[in-house]
Amino acid sequence: MAQSGSRQSIDAVVVGGGPAGAICALTLARGGARVSLVHWDGYSIGGIELVSGRARRLIEQHCPDFFLQVAPGIEVNETVSLWGTPGPVRSSAMFNPWGAGVALERELLDRALRNLASTAGVSVIPDTKVVGIARRSDRWELSLRLGEGEDELLHARFVVLATGRAAARFFDQTPMAESSQIALMASLGQQSDAPGHALHVEAMDNGWWYALPAADGRHFAGFCTSREVVKQRDASLRDFFSRELHRTRLLTPLMTSAEGNPCNTRSARISRITGRTADVRPFSKAAGEGWIAVGDAAFAPDALSGMGIELAIESAQRGAHALLEAIRTAGQHDVFAAYEDSIHARAMRHHETAVAYRYREL
Ligand SMILES: Cc1cc2nc3c(=O)[nH]c(=O)nc-3n(C[C@H](O)[C@H](O)[C@H](O)COP(=O)(O)OP(=O)(O)OC[C@H]3O[C@@H](n4cnc5c(N)ncnc54)[C@H](O)[C@@H]3O)c2cc1C
Repeated sequence: MAQSGSRQSIDAVVVGGGPAGAICALTLARGGARVSLVHWDGYSIGGIELVSGRARRLIEQHCPDFFLQVAPGIEVNETVSLWGTPGPVRSSAMFNPWGAGVALERELLDRALRNLASTAGVSVIPDTKVVGIARRSDRWELSLRLGEGEDELLHARFVVLATGRAAARFFDQTPMAESSQIALMASLGQQSDAPGHALHVEAMDNGWWYALPAADGRHFAGFCTSREVVKQRDASLRDFFSRELHRTRLLTPLMTSAEGNPCNTRSARISRITGRTADVRPFSKAAGEGWIAVGDAAFAPDALSGMGIELAIESAQRGAHALLEAIRTAGQHDVFAAYEDSIHARAMRHHETAVAYRYREL
């Protein structure tokens, strides 16, 4: 690769600027480490997601007015669900694992978290993809591909992998299989002055639907299904999405116009449809010689558990504390092993909850 530059060596480089990467870098910088965050948007989730009550508290510990001033969203206090129950459930986390939270644009959340990290002293390198990582004696050498097409090298003592579920993991022991679960997502309905405040969840014979209120008064819906179901459809993606949506009991009424009339054409009120990898990535490896993985790169929970962001932040904080300890002392082996055990235990607990609530299998 033709190189056009090299940066100064640092304590740690975080690869990926989603919630896990941003919070890990922020915690490292506040702990006194010299840290860079390399971020490329190519695999970003997009759309609207629910920041759970616990994820919200974790973020507010770093920035108390985050959801009031920095990245405001819509309070979601209710879940309307056909989640393995005979009729709609109106309640909080008692009947399903989603619970209450804030519905927020993912782009806004991620950008605000990266800004927070930057303010804390993290050197954020935007629009840049890490395309290679190699060990050079006691350091890592990262090959960066900058937005303008230039290449650069970055050297660091430690690497944090925060690349999410869709990206290469670089240190993985197991090859990445093609994803088998996919989420099709789009905005629904007409704009209304009174935005909703409930999360809708509905199980179908071929997948799960969810819908969250958006700031523009519409709803944002996702259909999590198998890639096979989408491949074998006999209509355009748009018609397939629309037809499946109209089979639901809970989401169809969200297509109703602001005046209370059902939309007259099936696909008239559906925005551009985007597709995202939605597999559950089981825990494989979360640490090794000079590196750790945080967030979905270590273990990706079911998209439908609504716990992805909180688990990502939780692992990011744990990982950052382990790294700070390793930077201070020479004993990285023990702290990294303890970190990996804690992530493994968390993944197992999540799996048991998923089985108990029956929201795991499609
Ligand atoms: C359809 C769907 C709906 C979901 N809904 C919710 C929800 O409502 N609530 C919830 O809590 N969770 C939800 N989740 C899960 C949640 O989105 C993830 O668990 C969470 O985003 C994980 O954060 P992360 O930082 O580990 O990874 P990500 O958010 O995936 O961030 C990783 C970032 O790293 C970047 N990157 C990757 N490779 C490189 C590279 N080589 N160089 C530079 N940058 C790179 C990517 O572009 C990406 O922006 C959902 C998931 C899906 C698929």
